[in-house]
Amino acid sequence: MPTTVHALQGDITQLPVQAIVNAANAALLGGGGVDGAIHRAAGPQLLEACRQLGGCTTGEAKLTLGYRLPAEYVIHTVGPVWHGGDRAEPALLAACYRRALELAAAQGIRSLAFPSISTGVYGYPLALAAQIAVSTVRAALKECSGFDEVIFCCFSASDLQVYQRLLAAPPGAKPAPI
Ligand code: ADP
Repeated sequence: MPTTVHALQGDITQLPVQAIVNAANAALLGGGGVDGAIHRAAGPQLLEACRQLGGCTTGEAKLTLGYRLPAEYVIHTVGPVWHGGDRAEPALLAACYRRALELAAAQGIRSLAFPSISTGVYGYPLALAAQIAVSTVRAALKECSGFDEVIFCCFSASDLQVYQRLLAAPPGAKPAPI
């Protein structure tokens, strides 16, 4: 069965998937944005679990349980801060998606939702980040066939439009300018 890859608008903490990805910071001790929302919804045990992990470097990913979340697991990854694009931001962002999928596959996770990593406080331009998200996930799924569903969970309607446009284009097609 091929993996269903799609985008939706919503709050990632509410999604009934086996794992959600957190756009965390290097300390893994909670923060604002999606990180704060995930910690609030998961409860204090998540922070306790994160304390044991000893942080996470940019482009890497680490796994915890989801505690009070509908999701069984949280995969914490640290996206790059946008500095204009010449400090390896694209490669680091791609690594987040790849590492999260590898970790999920190793854990036998079959359904996974990503937020739009780095596009909030970290300032990565949404259109550029979404292109990397979609192309990296598509490429990684060719290597691992264990997933039923991968979701791009967009917080805003305008973000969703960008993801849907990319997903509607055949893999490898150059997206038309926005
Ligand atoms: P980063 O520091 O990696 O930029 P942010 O949490 O600031 O992380 O933003 C990442 C993305 O997550 C943004 O697109 C933001 O709109 C989105 N976001 C914030 N809260 C939620 C949520 N509850 N569910 C899904 N996406 C969210």
